[in-house]
Amino acid sequence: VTEILDGRSLATSIRAEVAEESHNLRSRGIVPRLAVVVATHDGSSQAYVRSLVKAAEAAGVDVIVEDLDPSSDPGTIAAALDRAGADVNVHGVLLQTPLPDGVPVPEAAACIPPEKDIDGANPLSLGRLCAGLPAYAAATAQAVIELLSEYEVLLAGRSVTVVGRSTVVGQPLTQLLLRADATVTVCHSKTSDLASVTSSADVLVAAIGRAHFLGRPHVKEGAVVIDVGINVDAEGRLVGDVDGSSLDGHAAARSPVPGGVGPVTTAVLLRNVVSAALRPHPLR
Ligand code: NAP
Repeated sequence: VTEILDGRSLATSIRAEVAEESHNLRSRGIVPRLAVVVATHDGSSQAYVRSLVKAAEAAGVDVIVEDLDPSSDPGTIAAALDRAGADVNVHGVLLQTPLPDGVPVPEAAACIPPEKDIDGANPLSLGRLCAGLPAYAAATAQAVIELLSEYEVLLAGRSVTVVGRSTVVGQPLTQLLLRADATVTVCHSKTSDLASVTSSADVLVAAIGRAHFLGRPHVKEGAVVIDVGINVDAEGRLVGDVDGSSLDGHAAARSPVPGGVGPVTTAVLLRNVVSAALRPHPLR
């Protein structure tokens, strides 16, 4: 049988730790606080922010949402991030995407001070991660590692293939996997004969953005498969990049969508806010 790597239960236990830490901080007069800068009316993005606010409040993390107009120019977005970055009562800053047309995400995110960059969006954070310096990695990348670690999936010395090389998932994850002593292969849209590469991996991570793109022929028997993808299929259902049911009885374990990496990502984000509140300048 293929084990299901349950992200919801892991997220619940991470959020419980966050709540406890937040309680301790509050008793010392520190209220852990996250500022979220939003400049979109995109429905799924707004839904994500609402669910983040709910999860944060339940875990004792205060959230300020800076709701900017979707036609905001780069200067307005930069000013909002600068304000949050300079506010001593704000410990974490998140820039919600998508941004208005013509506003590049990395350039806007460069306004977030690295010590408050709890989702690793500032290019400096990724650079620091690559250089082996203290930095926040993108929460999704951290969530993949957390899920593997929770289920005691060994990484050191093993062959891990990541499909996707974006700066928000694939690249920070590659750095974290290297740090865990995995032998990492990164695939992307120009990889030829993808299945021949992915099917030799002990651990396969899909971060592509295409519904049910990977299936049984891409996966080695007994491999562990982590599905980062969040897509909507033709019937309007939320599905991953992996056709999970095709792996049953073939893979050793797999993370589902929904209920896998997604909830862990939110929990890790909140944990990062509390860490930033505990040690306001950990990166200097
Ligand atoms: P992205 O920026 O669009 O990157 C997608 C990556 O997949 C690129 O590197 C691309 O290659 C590669 N790719 C595209 N088509 C391919 C193909 N046919 N064969 C092999 N590789 C291919 O997306 P992203 O932001 O990294 O997100 C990836 C997925 O994760 C999306 O479904 C997104 O919704 C989801 N996501 C989930 C979370 C979470 O918390 N669970 C967080 C963030 C994102 P090229 O570089 O060559 O274009």
